[in-house]
Amino acid sequence: MDEHEQPRHRVVVIGAGFGGLFATKALKNAPVDVTLINGTAYHLFQPLLYQVATGILSEGEIAPPIREVLKRQKNAKTLLGTATHIDPVAKRVDVVAPGVAYSVEYDSLIVAAGASQSYFGKNEFADFAPGMKSIDDALELRGRIFGAFELAEIETDPAAIDRLLTFVVVGAGPTGVEMAGQIAELAHRHLPGQYHNIDPRQARIILVDALPTVLSTFGDHLSTEALRQLHKLGVEVELSTKVVDVDESGIEVETDNGRRRIESSTKIWAAGVAAPALSVQLAQATGAETDRAGRLKVNPDTTVPGHPEIYAVGDMMALDQLPGVAQVAIQSGRHAAGQIKKRLAGQPTGQPFKYFDKGSLATISRFSAVASVGRFHFAGLLGWLLWLVVHLLYLVGFKNRVTAVLHWFVSFIGRGRSERVATFQQVFARRALQEYQEKLP
Ligand SMILES: Cc1cc2nc3c(=O)[nH]c(=O)nc-3n(C[C@H](O)[C@H](O)[C@H](O)COP(=O)(O)OP(=O)(O)OC[C@H]3O[C@@H](n4cnc5c(N)ncnc54)[C@H](O)[C@@H]3O)c2cc1C
Repeated sequence: MDEHEQPRHRVVVIGAGFGGLFATKALKNAPVDVTLINGTAYHLFQPLLYQVATGILSEGEIAPPIREVLKRQKNAKTLLGTATHIDPVAKRVDVVAPGVAYSVEYDSLIVAAGASQSYFGKNEFADFAPGMKSIDDALELRGRIFGAFELAEIETDPAAIDRLLTFVVVGAGPTGVEMAGQIAELAHRHLPGQYHNIDPRQARIILVDALPTVLSTFGDHLSTEALRQLHKLGVEVELSTKVVDVDESGIEVETDNGRRRIESSTKIWAAGVAAPALSVQLAQATGAETDRAGRLKVNPDTTVPGHPEIYAVGDMMALDQLPGVAQVAIQSGRHAAGQIKKRLAGQPTGQPFKYFDKGSLATISRFSAVASVGRFHFAGLLGWLLWLVVHLLYLVGFKNRVTAVLHWFVSFIGRGRSERVATFQQVFARRALQEYQEKLP
């Protein structure tokens, strides 16, 4: 830059999920330099994590490297690291990565750090019932699910076999329903014939939720249809049932009839989200309010109150009761980018973010899904075809789309599950990682 040239406007984006990545892309032709900071080197397509956990897709297919996704965007650079502190006065973000700490200054900041799993204050449940938020979670669950069938094959105690072949999924939202449906398909369709001592069809898949319905946000019609399809698959659905304790060998639930224990080696937590630590720190630093889940209450234009240069988008923002779904994140990320572009072009800003609801989808098994698009409701094959098209459209990267289709073909038309590998490290590293994270600055 020569001395007469104006420095370019610096936009820092925290988080390369749907919100951050689409915000960055929307700034492609803007006169800005974008620095995208993410805790991992990849963008994660969370809606397909359950397919990694159940051996349908490989982790790479749903997690393309951010660098590759943005390689043609000359005004964007990617940095690995976890933002730990935002200083809104100095306009600086402090970041840590393994063995390194650094800071990045900004003129505009888009915070899109997503959400984390909530165990409703019982974080100790996580050791026994991993959530479904990251590749680590999905691979650990993959190891636990396939590992349970392997251990059941060599076990001789009938009670232990029953425990190993009982899978409990907590939370009957889209993730829980999809997960339960896929484990049922594994047990009833893919694994039979591969074991000598056990019949995988004897596996029990139990879906538990404190609410009285499955897919409660989809409306009565689709909720009832989803329940019917789950029953058809052999999933036992226990509604109005609250999980009160989880340990290594089972789960305790409470209903109107009292407390009961379910013996189960494999528990999966698909209930509850909490805002990330950064949301709380940003709220403290700016005086912004948070909602009960810790999400940041933003202005209608997605800026943080009192800070027109800071935007919070996606799962970590609380605005108009919008749900934590990919489309809210994508559209709010693009809105924030649009506001920055307008500001730099000297145009009026502050327009409220308007969410365009494109609908909701959840698969239950192969060829069977429920979808709600505006006034229209689809169930069964039609819903599933819609699911297929939408996921292909939004899966990032051409290569990933091709190989995902190939794997879907293997799993849905054939009876294979091509991604069943889980290493010992993936299954047992939870403790080591916890110890490592405790030692981080
Ligand atoms: C298992 C599962 C299934 C889902 N299924 C669906 C579905 O079918 N349909 C749907 O619409 N939505 C679904 N969702 C919700 C959807 O994935 C989210 O709403 C969406 O990902 C939110 O986007 P985001 O950008 O706000 O956050 P995220 O996509 O979570 O991205 C946040 C990013 O920020 C990074 N990050 C976090 N903290 C920091 C930090 N301090 N510093 C640097 N980086 C940080 C993370 O590594 C991550 O890359 C699902 C979610 C899950 C977990």
